[in-house]
Amino acid sequence: MPSAPLYDVSVIGAGPAGLAAALYAVRRKAKTIVFETEAVGGQMAKAHVVENYPGIVRISGTDLAEVMRKQVELHGVEVRFERVYDIKKVDREFLLKAERGEYRSKAVILATGAAARKLGVKGEEKLAGRGVSYCALCDGPLFKGKVVGVVGGSDSAVKDAIFLSSLAKKVYLIHRRDQLRAEAYLQDELFELPNVEVLWNKVVRTITGKERLEKVKLRDVKTSEDIELQLDGLFIEVGGIPTVALAKKLGVELDERGYVRVDKAQRTNVEGFFAAGDVTDFPLKQIATAVGQGATAAYAACTYLGLEATESRASSKQFLLRGISSGR
Ligand code: NAP
Repeated sequence: MPSAPLYDVSVIGAGPAGLAAALYAVRRKAKTIVFETEAVGGQMAKAHVVENYPGIVRISGTDLAEVMRKQVELHGVEVRFERVYDIKKVDREFLLKAERGEYRSKAVILATGAAARKLGVKGEEKLAGRGVSYCALCDGPLFKGKVVGVVGGSDSAVKDAIFLSSLAKKVYLIHRRDQLRAEAYLQDELFELPNVEVLWNKVVRTITGKERLEKVKLRDVKTSEDIELQLDGLFIEVGGIPTVALAKKLGVELDERGYVRVDKAQRTNVEGFFAAGDVTDFPLKQIATAVGQGATAAYAACTYLGLEATESRASSKQFLLRGISSGR
């Protein structure tokens, strides 16, 4: 495929891990491209507020993603919105097939994150987009003054419940245990909200509604008692499933839960193929750790390519002139 353009580093996925990887790669003068299927930001873009990224007191996930995108583009990274659906390695080069063309790359950094896990209960698929949602930030405004449920007990679910409490009349947080997994700080905020009720030890059995969601049937896992809850909306936040289809095509080693196994330099078992962020087996899934992993992966990829450690010179003066500091 000699006509396909050749890059030093191809990053697949434009969440915080992918964008950090691109930034660090391009600053080592690697010809760098980022592929993204949806909007930039990945899971981060679903957060209505981010308060634990050092240096930024409070920002929305979409705004932080937008600043990260602008920053990499200012440095000369190409961000392309097309899905990479196939990859193979021929000798020392990777061949990537994407929706609008083919690309060659000397190194690849996989930062595809994780897709929303489904509950897998009756009615979920039928009513998805008709009251059942996997994104509170996107769909929450449709439920102003209504009654909604959020399923899950970790950071995403608790954050969504807090966000939805500012819009909905009533929010039920439906959790399968009697203890939340979410950050203590978020739990404190949640428990202070007068219109949020936590339904402990409950699992969703069925989701019903003719045209739109009407009610869910819950089972108490301790007493086996079933209850029905009338709801206008149900937000399912029960974690993610790593997006590893491309990794599998290359024979990349996964751990027992399906995450990409990486070493401390974010290398996989396939030479020249690195991974960063939520797609990897690193246990902490935070923006700060994703960024660190992305930077590490880029560093390792550039070292693999023999690119020296001198960074490109995009001065702070240039940034000011181009408006990065004002976020424009
Ligand atoms: P997660 O941490 O994997 O938690 C999934 C939650 O859903 C858990 O509470 C789990 O219950 C529950 N769950 C899983 N399968 C279920 C099922 N079939 N039925 C009912 N409940 C089910 O997912 P996440 O909240 O999306 O977070 C993913 C990662 O991103 C985590 O590492 C998290 O810390 C991080 N994150 C951080 C922030 C932040 O602001 N710091 C925000 C979002 C995400 P159990 O508790 O019983 O296992």
